[in-house]
Amino acid sequence: MVDVLVIGGGNAALCAALMAREAGASVLLLESAPKEWRGGNSAHTRNIRAMHDAPEDVMLESYAEEEYWQDVLKVTSGLTDEKLARLVIRASSQCREWMKHHGVRFQPPLSGTLNLSRTNAFFMGGGKALVNAYYRSAEKLGVQIRYDSPVDSIDIQDGKFIAACVGAERIEAKTCVLAAGGFESNREWLKEAWGVNELGESPADNFLIRGTRYNNGVLLKQLIALGADSVSDPTQAHMVAVDARAPLYDGGICTRIDAVSFGIVVNKNAQRFSDEGEDFWPKRYAFWGRLVAQQPGQIGYSIIDSKVLGRFMPPVFPGEKADTLEELARKLGLDPAALVKTIQTYNAACQVGTFDHTIMDDCHTIDLEPPKTHWALPIDTAPFYAYAVRPGVTFTYLGLKTDETAAVRLQGQPSKNLFVAGEMMAGNVLGKGYAAGIGMAIGTVFGRIAGTEAAKAALVQNMEAQHATA
Ligand SMILES: Cc1cc2nc3c(=O)[nH]c(=O)nc-3n(C[C@H](O)[C@H](O)[C@H](O)COP(=O)(O)OP(=O)(O)OC[C@H]3O[C@@H](n4cnc5c(N)ncnc54)[C@H](O)[C@@H]3O)c2cc1C
Repeated sequence: MVDVLVIGGGNAALCAALMAREAGASVLLLESAPKEWRGGNSAHTRNIRAMHDAPEDVMLESYAEEEYWQDVLKVTSGLTDEKLARLVIRASSQCREWMKHHGVRFQPPLSGTLNLSRTNAFFMGGGKALVNAYYRSAEKLGVQIRYDSPVDSIDIQDGKFIAACVGAERIEAKTCVLAAGGFESNREWLKEAWGVNELGESPADNFLIRGTRYNNGVLLKQLIALGADSVSDPTQAHMVAVDARAPLYDGGICTRIDAVSFGIVVNKNAQRFSDEGEDFWPKRYAFWGRLVAQQPGQIGYSIIDSKVLGRFMPPVFPGEKADTLEELARKLGLDPAALVKTIQTYNAACQVGTFDHTIMDDCHTIDLEPPKTHWALPIDTAPFYAYAVRPGVTFTYLGLKTDETAAVRLQGQPSKNLFVAGEMMAGNVLGKGYAAGIGMAIGTVFGRIAGTEAAKAALVQNMEAQHATA
């Protein structure tokens, strides 16, 4: 029987598998996806948010614990477990050397990276290169890896993990790490969570999934049904406004629309619905998918003029372009008179100061509802551009409650041999909201803890068995 069974094949699972193997345990990793799609959402990532007290390798200046914590507190509006959040923050300063040891390479940030050069370390070759490096290292260390192996259920008896089932096959292990992602790829569950809005629409019908199709939450659902303690709620998720033309799965980073804070966003009635300049884009981008999800038809239109071109990362596909606002409205299928009125009202409310998108500048609106509190420039310079946007779900936050040992808690009791990492428990730190790069920080830190604890628990069982037979 294997010591540690790791369920999942993304960053959290690989960190757990590597740590468990390094601690001397035998490890089997079950990845639902075929080899060519391995790595889950982690394969789409670019960076990790990391605390540092002084300039270090690719990290500039400093990003101290307190500032990181205040960022988490702000984006979650306090819906976070401070002890676990601080644990992630502190440990995020210590994982880069270990990551490099397993083949991950870092690079200085390039332009278009959401002003993250001080706070985030970027992976050379992105998340795809990171997971490939981890798989290579895991193979070299003797971790057994099986692809095309979706675990349908696990057998738990008296709070103890016994076995996992893949189809008709039953795989026993001494301990288990659950790192199988959220339930973002499970449309039925998303529909159930989001229900029907006042217009009779099922908002989740119009959600696009930015990453893998394999995170369907089967085990999350089973564990919650079995009485595992859970955190967050099923509608909370990292949700980005993505190009409405993006594919249903795996559109990845290049479908994100980063023009929002440079212009305005209207719904299909050509009405604005939120402050596009509330905060720096890295702290707001993950809210916009949700805001669009709350609009009729779950669609929005990000509108800019030519003054701001070149100031944000351009989406992969060009947007609609027109010389007049009426023509732009017609191309978008919006009522031209309504759009012109919204933009004229907005333009009239703009108090132009000194525009600077690298600071919270003094360009804001007055007497406008909703206001635009920063970067408010009139939309007056043709040609005009627009991108239709849909809610793009990155990952869901409903997860398993845990503690600093990464143990799954069943009816309040920490399991001795079942651990959890990554998206399956990210809701402990992220009750809502997001700060770019924290997903990989949570997955790396808790993946490493879960692997270490699982190995420790398995090796104790091995020792006990040896004593019993001695
Ligand atoms: C487009 C995009 C960009 C992102 N960019 C960043 C970024 O730059 N920085 C950042 O911090 N975060 C980013 N994120 C979020 C980040 O991907 C996640 O927070 C992190 O990767 C989660 O890691 P994980 O291992 O928990 O999940 P995943 O990487 O999704 O891994 C889950 C794994 O479980 C497998 N699986 C699922 N169900 C089963 C089952 N029943 N049996 C067996 N295996 C199963 C899946 O196939 C997958 O391999 C991004 C996400 C997306 C989609």
